[in-house]
Formats: sequence, C-alpha cells, structure tokens
Amino acid sequence: MGGAAGGRARGRGVTDRPTKLEYFVLLALAARTRADCLGRRVGAVIIREDRVLSTGYNGTPIGMPNCSEGGCHRCAQRDTPAYAPGGAYDVCVCVHAEQNALMTAARFGQSTLGATLYTTMGPCFTCCKEALQAGIVAVHYVDDWQPAAQEQDPALAHQYAALRAHFQAFEPVAVDPDRLWRHLLPGPPPG
Ligand SMILES: [Zn+2]
Ligand SMILES: [Zn+2]
Repeated sequence: MGGAAGGRARGRGVTDRPTKLEYFVLLALAARTRADCLGRRVGAVIIREDRVLSTGYNGTPIGMPNCSEGGCHRCAQRDTPAYAPGGAYDVCVCVHAEQNALMTAARFGQSTLGATLYTTMGPCFTCCKEALQAGIVAVHYVDDWQPAAQEQDPALAHQYAALRAHFQAFEPVAVDPDRLWRHLLPGPPPG
C-alpha cells in the first residue's frame, strides 16, 4: 500500500497489530469475498500451529457454472419449501466453505490432523462431521447459524450437539468488527 494510507499503516505502531485470532478471522473474511452462492456467503481458513494450511469459500465445484449464474438447482429454488435454507444439502451442488478448505488441504497433501478451523458462520451438520473426521480439533466461527430443520427435530439437535462436543472447542469468536476494519484500512474511519 502506498501514499497516505501506507504512511498511516507504518506509523500506527506495533501495539495495534492484529492478534492471531483477529488475523485468522480476517483471512476467513477475505476468503468469503470470493464466495458465489445464492445462500449465505461463507469463508473459512484452516490453521495448524498458527500457520495457514488452506482457505475456502462456498460455491459450485470447479469448472461448473456459478451458483449466481443458475449453476445450483437447489439454491435457485431456495424460496420453495422443499429447498428451504438449512435443508436439502444432499441435492445441493454448492461446496461449503469449510468443505472447500478441507479438500484444498487434501488436494495439496496437507494433513489437517490437529488443526483448527475458523469460519465466518457456524458449520452445518455435514461440515461438522467432515471436519471431525479430518482431524480438526477446534472450530471457531464468527456468526451463529441455527438450521431450521434441527430446531424442529429435538433428536437431530441432540445429535448435532453431541457431534460438536467431540471438538476441544466449538465456539463463536469474540472479535471487535471495528478493530478488524481498522486493521485493513488504517487511519480515520470512513465517512
Ligand atoms: Zn449455492
Ligand atoms: Zn456446511
């Protein structure tokens, strides 16, 4: 970054450096900017020993038309009861951000055993079980997510809770959005 903004960035002092947690959340938020899904846009990053293994965002598989271009039948029908948000994931062609992060690590031969997943939204049932099975030990998310179907079925909600309990941590991150914004654009707030 050059010019005035760069000058402010250099002059802000090391005490205002983002924490590691803020850095990981910023990376997940950066990944989210690439999401292409008619549903909620999500970004994820997998961290091991404070290093980035992979990132991911949600959208259709490689080489297929984007969700926003009509590439996903289920997402295109999300206003109909059969394909309501939170359901019919088994017929959704979109790959979730967490899945993409896990599979990018697999694609390039990075072990996710013992790693931590940071995601911008609480992972769904499918992503939870896949993360657990891939050896992810902790999940931290920015926004909570309560799937409608699981709220309605106590047995499913119980199973989801039991799955979450297998992680050492499964919790929302406590980050100040204003601080995150300032790290990206040092200087006086806009407006
Ligand atoms: Zn989609
Ligand atoms: Zn998911």
